[in-house]
Amino acid sequence: MKKLALHWQILIALVLAILFGIFLPEQVSYISWMGDVFLRGLKMVIIPLILSSIITGVAGIGNSANLGRVGGKTMGYYLLTSTIAIVTGLFLVNIIKPGVDSGIELNSSVNSILNQHDSIGQTLIKIIPENIFQSFASGDMLGIIFFALLFGFFLTKIKAEYREPTLKVVNGVFEVMMKITMFIIRFTPLGILGLVAGVVADQKNIMDVATGLGSYFLTVLIALVIHGTVTLLLITYFVGRVNPFKHFRAMSTPLLTAFSTSSSSATLPLTMEAVENNGGVSQKISSFTLPLGATINMDGTALYECVAVIFIAQIYGMELSIVNQVMIVLLSLLASIGAAGIPMAGLVTITIILSYLGLPLEAVGLILAVDRPLDMLRTTVNVWSDSCGAVTIAKSEGEKLKY
Ligand code: ASP
Repeated sequence: MKKLALHWQILIALVLAILFGIFLPEQVSYISWMGDVFLRGLKMVIIPLILSSIITGVAGIGNSANLGRVGGKTMGYYLLTSTIAIVTGLFLVNIIKPGVDSGIELNSSVNSILNQHDSIGQTLIKIIPENIFQSFASGDMLGIIFFALLFGFFLTKIKAEYREPTLKVVNGVFEVMMKITMFIIRFTPLGILGLVAGVVADQKNIMDVATGLGSYFLTVLIALVIHGTVTLLLITYFVGRVNPFKHFRAMSTPLLTAFSTSSSSATLPLTMEAVENNGGVSQKISSFTLPLGATINMDGTALYECVAVIFIAQIYGMELSIVNQVMIVLLSLLASIGAAGIPMAGLVTITIILSYLGLPLEAVGLILAVDRPLDMLRTTVNVWSDSCGAVTIAKSEGEKLKY
């Protein structure tokens, strides 16, 4: 019998998981452990993978001029797509006005989330790790990326007798991590079955979607769909000269995993595997762009932050001036860059924008009820944008892809 393609296996697992979560919510612990095992497996490889991939990527790109060019293109793509995403959200939330006459009550509180937030200045300073081993231990991605970029860059500046063996070891570590990733990928359907059943069983507030929060949910959803299927598609096609539909097919496993895990970081190993093996992007480009993208390029999160803040302002009956709206765009961009690639990170960094506008931070409680499904959707767009960036940049560097 021919083996069913992985993305079909995952889709079947998704449907089964939803049915299980709806009809057997009490029994969900019998299968949700599979999700935990799968997530732990992915998390296990992330840090050695990011470290080794960025070092080999940067060292592979070579001299400062090449690095500057690829780095410039990568940052340009990330900032441009995130900004377009935010403007799409801004436009829709101003047209649909989900917060006007929504009948929502203002009384929830979410202290535990709000305590975790840093100011913008602190976030920037903390990019430089004080103790790199502590960064490894605590999973501080920005710190690890910063260190790896420097390490890769200065590795090219030392004598060949030291450079060559060091690079071989780091390359070896990278290859092993990718092999482990490919092994974990085989269990994706089971992992997704467990994860999604758990999430569905947990959604006690599903009715909220039908009531006051429904049009907010729809506004974010429509904006995400427009960004993912129109904007990114056009950029991939016209700038990258890549067939976006073939690229989408090639990315089905990481996209479904992003949806199920709500975590760009946890999905990163699968994104790299798909972009390299299915897409044919060189290791040096994917190793440089994707770990960076999973941490700072979050189009879906940026868009969602802008819509959510304006929705909250509408509920409080606050008139937003043009200056305020421009500031919301800028701060949404910063808040999305500062958000870690983990579940609910966007909900935490949104407080940066609320404090700027003088809105009470407790307002986050209003949108909490529908945050999980929105997190799944925005994470999918985050990963999709990273992957479109990787192929577009690879093409612009003269690489031949598989489609
Ligand atoms: N969960 C998102 C991600 O990992 C971040 C967010 O909360 O928006 O990409």
